[in-house]
Amino acid sequence: ATPTAIMVGSGKGAELGVLIKSGEALEMLHRVDVVILDKTGTITEGRPSVIDLKPIFIDEEELISYAASIERLSEHPLAEAVYEYAKDKGIKIYDVEDFKSITGHGVYGRIREREILVGNTKLMKEYGIDISNVEEYIEDISKHGRTAIIVAIDNEVKGVIGIADRVKENSKRAIELIKNMKKKVVMLTGDNYLTAKAIAGEVKVHEFIAEVLPQNKADVVKEYQSKNKRVLMIGDGINDAPALVQADVGMAIGSGTDIAIESADVVLMKSDLLDAAYAIELSRKTIKNIK
Ligand code: ADP
Ligand code: MG
Repeated sequence: ATPTAIMVGSGKGAELGVLIKSGEALEMLHRVDVVILDKTGTITEGRPSVIDLKPIFIDEEELISYAASIERLSEHPLAEAVYEYAKDKGIKIYDVEDFKSITGHGVYGRIREREILVGNTKLMKEYGIDISNVEEYIEDISKHGRTAIIVAIDNEVKGVIGIADRVKENSKRAIELIKNMKKKVVMLTGDNYLTAKAIAGEVKVHEFIAEVLPQNKADVVKEYQSKNKRVLMIGDGINDAPALVQADVGMAIGSGTDIAIESADVVLMKSDLLDAAYAIELSRKTIKNIK
């Protein structure tokens, strides 16, 4: 495209809150084959909240008290949901010793000589904790597109917390528009298979890839590229900045992290996924005009 066409195209984008940082990105956008969307914070609101509680031989308040005390020290959106819930109810928060964050799995800490683990089934397996008594309950939560967090105290499951993160209002429509542009649409998430499957079904992506560790998200992008597919990656930067950099075009949600906005070629200032479809269309029109 000519410099003038690029300038006009970028200007039109900027007017609508779509910041396209380079001419290359504007040219490449409509040529991508695969559009990968991160789930948490991109397809969903990324502001999860506690909606289910199952204490096991423990007082509900005590369960939350232990879990929230540990989660207070984690920056994960799920952790914030647990801590906010406890704060809202005025539930006691303990001091924690030896806090550890296990990326993509959960957290560990000690409270008054008791060992607390809060996280997913993989975390429990890693520590050899039997979860058979809550498996059915976890499956039920997950099938509804929610995330189940398990709380273990001294190597025993003491409860499950169900957390919901709503799908954004425009996600489904935006995905439909991108599919109409003949792009393959893929959802990527660190969340478990059943939760991912439910959300994928709700927004109707072509494919979903679940249980991907943060450090492996860029590898998923690379894998498509190794099959000669050009990739547009859309994320909020919590765990996905390297994937944004790896992609042929990286697109950040404006409400995402600073690192996402720095890593991306395109920024959706209004944090509206419909603008992703708009950006692809703008790219097509800009390039077509000069041919
Ligand atoms: P994503 O941002 O794609 O949902 P993450 O890789 O950040 O995925 O997390 C993957 C999974 O690890 C979560 O769905 C959750 O089950 C578990 N997890 C990670 N951090 C925590 C935490 N602080 N508390 C509880 N569970 C956690
Ligand atoms: Mg994320």
